[in-house]
Amino acid sequence: MKKLVVITGASSGIGKELAKAFLKEGHPVLLLARRKHLMEELNLENCICKSVDVIKKDEVEKAILEAEAKYGKTNLLINCAGIMLLGKADVQSYEEWDNMIDVNIKGILTGTNVVLPNMVKENDGTIINISSIAGRKTFDNHSVYCGTKFAVHSITEAMRKEVASTNVRIITIAPGVVETPLLSHTTDDKIKEDYNKWKETIEGGLDAKKIVDCVKFAYYMPQDVCVREIVIAKTKQED
Ligand code: NDP
Repeated sequence: MKKLVVITGASSGIGKELAKAFLKEGHPVLLLARRKHLMEELNLENCICKSVDVIKKDEVEKAILEAEAKYGKTNLLINCAGIMLLGKADVQSYEEWDNMIDVNIKGILTGTNVVLPNMVKENDGTIINISSIAGRKTFDNHSVYCGTKFAVHSITEAMRKEVASTNVRIITIAPGVVETPLLSHTTDDKIKEDYNKWKETIEGGLDAKKIVDCVKFAYYMPQDVCVREIVIAKTKQED
């Protein structure tokens, strides 16, 4: 059997496509998100689904240790869980900012903190953080979302350097707009409407399977090759 892959945010969108893809490749997989029934609906073999809040390290750790007891140590952690609550800075609630900072930043740290020490000890392993093109430049109504994704970019790059000598890879994948339910949690209807109108002008977002292709490309490179960052967007997405 191939090595264990842990995926956060596996109940929807990109994470769900990643789950299907890595199972198809023959890896045992641990799927993490709050909505367990959506992960269980995939009805996959060699798969453990756990309802966890990625902010809570104890929940993430318990799930990973249980999966590792069954399938061996984690070889790939994909931190995909995230939320995008768009809003204008003078209108948006503090709670929405707080929530994005927690999920998008702390959410990549909990699992990393669990698996990285052993990866370094074994001189093997890969962590892939799903950031965003909004982690490279700013967009209107995205201020705090951009802040969280800039943080994902910088944490990933700084950690990559720190463990590079051990052959452990830490990688950023930064998509432009992808067709998933990500926008649905934004509470401002006008912002959602404008975003969807703009998306029509580029003939919709990327298929989530294209992000899966990027993850697989980076992961299946030989361990001594680190694809440090991939930025991918629809050709028609100008910004
Ligand atoms: P979805 O909304 O489809 O998926 C988000 C996932 O994150 C869900 O599985 C959700 O599961 C999980 N999640 C959210 N909060 C928590 C939490 N507190 N604990 C555990 N899991 C959580 O969006 P996408 O698939 O599009 O997003 C995946 C990643 O890709 C995000 O980091 C996003 O920022 C990034 N991205 C997306 C783009 C896009 O246009 N779609 C563009 C660029 C980057 P549940 O609610 O069940 O807990």
